[in-house]
Amino acid sequence: EDLAGLSELDENSLLESLTGRFDHNRIYQTYIGDILVAVNPFKQLPLYEKEVSERYKCHEKSSLPPHIFAVADRAYQSMLGRLGTGPKNQCIVIGESGAGKTESTKLLLRQLMELCRANSQLEQQILQVNPLLEAFGNAQTVMNDNSSRFGKYIQLRFQNSSKGAKINEYLLEKSRVVHQDEGERNFHIFYCMLAGISPQDKEMYGLLDPTQYYLNGRFVQDDMVKHWSAKYSEVSNAMDMVGFEEQEKVDMMTILAGILSLGNITFEVTDSDALKVADKSQGWLKAAAFVLQGQLGVQEEELLRCLTCTMTVTRGESIYRLHNQQQAEARDSIAKVVYGRVFGWIVSKINELLSHKLDWDVELHIFLMEQNEYKEEGIQWETITFKDNKPILLQDLFLTKPIGILSLLDEQSAFPQATDGNFVDKLNSKFKANPHFEVVRSHSPLFTIVHYAGKVQYNASGFLEKNRDNIPANIRTLFINSVTPLLSVLFSTISRTGTLMPRKAKLQVVDDNFNSTRKQSVGAQFKHSLAVLMEKMFAASPHFVRCIKPNSSKQPDQLDSKLVMDQLRYNGLLETIRIRREGFSWRPSFKEFAQYNILLLNPDLPLDKECISILNTTELRGWKCSSRLFFKYWHQEELARLLERLGKAAVVIQ
Ligand code: ATP
Ligand code: MG
Repeated sequence: EDLAGLSELDENSLLESLTGRFDHNRIYQTYIGDILVAVNPFKQLPLYEKEVSERYKCHEKSSLPPHIFAVADRAYQSMLGRLGTGPKNQCIVIGESGAGKTESTKLLLRQLMELCRANSQLEQQILQVNPLLEAFGNAQTVMNDNSSRFGKYIQLRFQNSSKGAKINEYLLEKSRVVHQDEGERNFHIFYCMLAGISPQDKEMYGLLDPTQYYLNGRFVQDDMVKHWSAKYSEVSNAMDMVGFEEQEKVDMMTILAGILSLGNITFEVTDSDALKVADKSQGWLKAAAFVLQGQLGVQEEELLRCLTCTMTVTRGESIYRLHNQQQAEARDSIAKVVYGRVFGWIVSKINELLSHKLDWDVELHIFLMEQNEYKEEGIQWETITFKDNKPILLQDLFLTKPIGILSLLDEQSAFPQATDGNFVDKLNSKFKANPHFEVVRSHSPLFTIVHYAGKVQYNASGFLEKNRDNIPANIRTLFINSVTPLLSVLFSTISRTGTLMPRKAKLQVVDDNFNSTRKQSVGAQFKHSLAVLMEKMFAASPHFVRCIKPNSSKQPDQLDSKLVMDQLRYNGLLETIRIRREGFSWRPSFKEFAQYNILLLNPDLPLDKECISILNTTELRGWKCSSRLFFKYWHQEELARLLERLGKAAVVIQ
């Protein structure tokens, strides 16, 4: 069941093997080295019962068929140092949209919680935040009925006294709030809300009229009402569990209703080419601003001004300029920004819960100490840490202040005349000597970054424009003055009660502009984006799950060979097999190796000689050594078996 072990393996035999097993409902097809290949079954299979979960606890990999629970087990055991590598493992789930990444991640989490057992309340909480996150961050797309429209990076801490979890969100697809392509939908929560709340509540929130522009004419159809209202109860329960107060829930619904009303406001151009709210949508302007309980809870004239004017402050004086037709998107940016804030707030609430109410400082301390240990071991470890509430990217000076790319971007964005070309020129002159940077000779604003995982060429067209996408002062003021308490809090940089925002800055990796008066730029958000994440993960020794989508029509029992082959190719699976077979994936130093694997026989021998002589007495073949040891991926498993046979735990040497 380990395809990398096969002597004859090409694209076709790989595909054949996958197809054959898929036909028998074996979706965890195979291991390729330490990579699990999972094909989405698009149906419920009896693969995840308690009994299965038990069987995969602390098992020997080759004794059971491949399974996602096996990956959880290996990650957990090796984190504890039981598989000979020392505690430094993470898990990566990869695949295209609808391939099953989210489902696999949930299963992984479930099994990890089973494995650590110690705190069943935390386990329940971690598993239950999913419905909440998915309601606000997932949506139906052409590819996937439950597509994740944000990245998330879940970090579990298994320190003795401080189990906890933290979720980092990055790059929510905010544009979905205001626009969806054909066959797609807005975030689930809108449909949940429309189907789930009582007619009285609908009236209160001003949601009785279903002509909602932001829902693209797609409301909750009759046959789906049950589905969505069940989801609504689930979300509502999850909110209670996460500790949302009743008023906060009401506020959130109010704000969502406000977003929908905003979407119904349309504009007309006046004779003088300025923008005005169309007569027929005056009602929606009123609704968005203030209906009964209040949606956005703001003054109608103020909202109108934000929708139709740009404000600039010159020598202390506010000057309003009426928008022209092209600038009608003020409405959409307001909706996006408000939704984004609500989402960020939910994530921070969840993190607050999952941090397990420990004093974060205590945890912070442990966390940092742990990293220092890694550094001493010479293991590459890149992560985001906190100092005085400010995140710092370790070993990633490239992105940090004062000379980072993102700071340069911010700096350039502040000059109204600067262009993308100017920005790249600045990069080129600042970083030309940096080994992680390459100058690209081109008329377009291009530059290359050498990431850990490989080179990536970036096109800076539109970077400045996007980075300037900060919240105009008048919109911020509008919401700070909102009578809907939550909305006001979401837009107060320094909260009046001194709780919400600082807490968020502590628990979540947020932009380091958070406590300053500057606004959060796109560049600051980018710090949490994929490139950084990949670096972080590749720096540890990862476990891989490659999810494969068997067909594009989301149907069970159908496998489209061409589609699968394409994924095998661009997932690099074949290439991976070759590298796995030939390469040395595990390269411990002698010290590391000794620490986790061997019993020292002769303390008088130098460490390297000692390691080598011990290895020579085992049946392990094919390893190499120079200044450190080189092993193939399967050696680790063999060593663990060997140790077990000897009936001894690893002896730690000083
Ligand atoms: P996206 O990138 O769009 O978020 P994804 O890779 O996260 O996609 P999932 O949402 O995990 O995809 O999976 C899509 C759908 O496939 C699920 O809603 C579920 O119906 C089905 N599915 C995935 N994995 C499994 C599984 N192990 N068993 C049963 N059904 C599954
Ligand atoms: Mg997903």
